[in-house]
Amino acid sequence: MNAEIIAIGSELLTPYRQDTNSLFLTEKLNELGVEVVFKTIVGDDRKRLTDSARLALSRTDICIFMGGLGPTEDDLTREAVADALELPLRRDPKLVTALEERFASRGWNMSSNNLKQADVITGAVVLPNPNGTAPGQWLAGQFSGKSKIVLLLPGPPHELTHLFEAECMERLRAKLPRKSIAKRVLKIAGMGESQCDARVAPIYSRYTDIQTTILAGPGEIQLHLRKQADSLFAAQERVDQLVHAMEEELGDFVFSDNGDSLEQIVAYYLQMREATLAVAESCTGGMLAERLTSLSGSSRYFLGGAVVYSNELKTDFANVPAEFIRKHGAVSRQVAIALAEGIRNRCGSTLGLAITGIAGPTGGTEEKPVGLVFHALASDTGTEVVEKKYPGDRQRVRRFATQQALDMVRRKLM
Ligand code: ATP
Repeated sequence: MNAEIIAIGSELLTPYRQDTNSLFLTEKLNELGVEVVFKTIVGDDRKRLTDSARLALSRTDICIFMGGLGPTEDDLTREAVADALELPLRRDPKLVTALEERFASRGWNMSSNNLKQADVITGAVVLPNPNGTAPGQWLAGQFSGKSKIVLLLPGPPHELTHLFEAECMERLRAKLPRKSIAKRVLKIAGMGESQCDARVAPIYSRYTDIQTTILAGPGEIQLHLRKQADSLFAAQERVDQLVHAMEEELGDFVFSDNGDSLEQIVAYYLQMREATLAVAESCTGGMLAERLTSLSGSSRYFLGGAVVYSNELKTDFANVPAEFIRKHGAVSRQVAIALAEGIRNRCGSTLGLAITGIAGPTGGTEEKPVGLVFHALASDTGTEVVEKKYPGDRQRVRRFATQQALDMVRRKLM
């Protein structure tokens, strides 16, 4: 079975609000073996909404409408979907009572427009919404000569997620053929998207039964693999085969094959080697320390460090000789090395990690352009330094830099 998700609300067509509910729903539907084939966003306009509902009903098996179930004039989902289904709405007396009680218990007066939240499409099952006033609705039946499932869900994410988990997952499962789904995520650092795809495409294109999706972010490529089969064992075995073939090809560029983040992998290696880490960061302004400390238990291996933005602090906090900065500039190979060694000595850690660069968009020169970053890792066997020129805006450059720095620690310890 396939599905269409229709997000309703004019605010979702502005730059200020994003449809995030459909991401949650897609994940849940995929878990059930349902593929989402269309997503639609439509504003609070009855005709457009009815047209979208008719179109969805004509082309997909499961139509999920979300939002527009509230009490206001522009909440029109019930009416529009009823129109598209050519079914009347009925006012449910139990829902009217529940609404009245809810308002009375809070000492509020209920205005008459709230009553439309008690309107139910004829034949629909009412799905309780303990977190809000608008209940969901579930309708399964023959529409346009085909069996369909129609769902109406409230828009607020905390209401929708709870209601979907509590009321819809089991109902959907009961309607669907029993299928098992195996999933794996491979994460890769130190390689660009096209370079990675060129190496793995000849492999995954032989596994046409496995859905392979490549997601690229700054300094990280993710390969998401998904397969449906009658048994979980069969699905898992097949996905594992593809994972193995890709890992053979990509070697140590793969840092995780179970979805772990790079900071989790670094944490794992630091603990395994009983090593500690300290950092000195300039252009990343604490992002490296933030990533490292985002994990509970990080005090076991992360000692701390310093954000050394000014030249003076590079000298005061990380013992970088002032003459290095004068001679080579703060963004230089020499200063990166001195930062890593300085913070290691200062903190008494096994490893010292440093980043200095130009995140932009200002501050670049012909000789040292925006995106130029030096990363250094000091240990008892010496100090290595990596120079990179990253593309993108300030945030991307900073993310790239922390990714590279963490990857240096991983490679050092693996
Ligand atoms: P209510 O009874 O709260 O009015 P509703 O079903 O009418 O519920 P909406 O009024 O359409 O829902 O949306 C309520 C809020 O939920 C919106 O302001 C928006 O912040 C959020 N919301 C709605 N749809 C989505 C969506 N698809 N993704 C993320 N947030 C959403």
